[in-house]
Amino acid sequence: MATPETPTTKVCPNCGATVPRKTKQCPECGQLLATPKPEWFKNLTPVEIFLLVLGGIMLAIGFVAL
Ligand SMILES: [Zn+2]
Repeated sequence: MATPETPTTKVCPNCGATVPRKTKQCPECGQLLATPKPEWFKNLTPVEIFLLVLGGIMLAIGFVAL
C-alpha cells in the first residue's frame, strides 16, 4: 500500500521547471514564485483550521449565551 507523500516541489508557472517548494525565485527563468501560505499556516491541516474556526464560533456563542 502506497503512503501519500507531501509534495516537496512545485512547478514554475512561467517555464514549467520543477523547483524546490521553498524556492522563491525560479532558477531556470527567474520567475518570482509566490509562497501561498505563511510558514506557521503550513503546519495546520484543513481539519485543524476548521476546528479552530469552529472553536472560536462556539466560544463566541458561549459568551453571548451566558
Ligand atoms: Zn521558471
